[in-house]
Amino acid sequence: MPGINEDDCQFLSLRDRTALLSALSLCRLPAGLEPAAFMYRWAPAMLDCGYAAKWRPAYPDSVFLAPLCMVRGQVPPYMLATIAPAVLHELVHAGQYSRLGPAAYLLCSLPLLNAALLEPEARRYEKLAERDLGLPSA
Ligand SMILES: [Zn+2]
Repeated sequence: MPGINEDDCQFLSLRDRTALLSALSLCRLPAGLEPAAFMYRWAPAMLDCGYAAKWRPAYPDSVFLAPLCMVRGQVPPYMLATIAPAVLHELVHAGQYSRLGPAAYLLCSLPLLNAALLEPEARRYEKLAERDLGLPSA
């Protein structure tokens, strides 16, 4: 995730956060995962990276969102539902990090291990969320 600068990021408004959490509440979640325990921030730098959502070990309690769906600084609530599966994918990684601990998580993030050990669970929940929300599969 190149160039995330916390100073450029903006916390979701209460209305947007509520719309996102409400979409996530309709999704099957891994046991113990609480989306409301996280902070969600718009990160303009993410517009260049092609991801709708990103979580990073450096910010274990935050998920950064690309402001793709903003229209004049406002986000239609249904747009937050469309990115909820990508957000859940990232929350699963956050859960893996707290389960495994920093050292084991970083080891598992090495490219081949990541594809075998971390991504399948995150993708499974992302797909389930698409189904739970009635969205077309990405
Ligand atoms: Zn992933």
